[in-house]
Amino acid sequence: MVTWLRTYLDMSPERATWTYVADALIAHHTPKTYENIDDFSKINIFLQSWNTDSRKLPKDLQDMITVAKRHGLRLDGLAFSRNIIRQMPIWLHSESKEIKRQHNNNVCKCLRKNHDVKTVGDAEKIAKLTHTTRHTNRRNCACTSCRNIQQNTGCTHPNRCYDKAQELLNLLPAKWNPNSRLPEDYEPEELDPAGYRDGKTFDWRITTKGDLANAFRIFTNQEKNTSLPDTERTQINIGPTIEAYTDGSCIHNGTNDAIAGAGVYFPNEEYSHRAIKLPEYVKQSNQSGEIIGIKEAVETVDEEREL
Ligand SMILES: [Zn+2]
Ligand SMILES: [Zn+2]
Repeated sequence: MVTWLRTYLDMSPERATWTYVADALIAHHTPKTYENIDDFSKINIFLQSWNTDSRKLPKDLQDMITVAKRHGLRLDGLAFSRNIIRQMPIWLHSESKEIKRQHNNNVCKCLRKNHDVKTVGDAEKIAKLTHTTRHTNRRNCACTSCRNIQQNTGCTHPNRCYDKAQELLNLLPAKWNPNSRLPEDYEPEELDPAGYRDGKTFDWRITTKGDLANAFRIFTNQEKNTSLPDTERTQINIGPTIEAYTDGSCIHNGTNDAIAGAGVYFPNEEYSHRAIKLPEYVKQSNQSGEIIGIKEAVETVDEEREL
């Protein structure tokens, strides 16, 4: 069943045929509260804030949704690539209640009907049309984009739609906004391969890449991290790299009498060496000794120095 769910959540153009049937059934059987939402906007209940009446669905789909709910399936992660962010449906975007409130606004209807806007990426493209050469914000603007839209669609005021698309993007939280400065923008494509192999380089990158399906997590706990972490490191290295050796130890390891400790040694004596007895509230084991040793070393060295 989890494999099914995984196939269902694959939003790529190669997605399995049955998932389209599932989508149609799920969208068709919506409870009364969602009746004013057009079918065009209902893309996926796990990506958007609408629901289905699963009792009316075939047994297999019911089971799939039950499994998803039981395992706490949801979008989760510290940061996402712009590719993933752009694949999200803009309408009823699960991470923005404000966009939902705008849903039946006439300009939003035009964005759906005449500009075929479905995803965040679609909205971004429309918003960018204000940058068309010679574009003005007048209703009868004659720039190539506005003329093209007025001749080929029922849209009578393209500029208003560009502005609305931008307004919707502005309602997205930073983590889900393609215009944010994202960790992806400063994370290197590759880490120093030699250092990484020797375990000297810590992979500090946090961006989930690939497709939307990669942004789903199961077994999530209740709390959701909605903020966008800033992991951009300022490179102020004063002086040479600090060397430190750490170790953890434990006597009577694995028994109730276990007593654990840690040591930190700075061979060049920039900082005082440390010998630590682990406090009682920390589990007394060899491993916790090792971890505390590293933690103390990192916290001892000044932030702007490279360790
Ligand atoms: Zn124009
Ligand atoms: Zn329009």
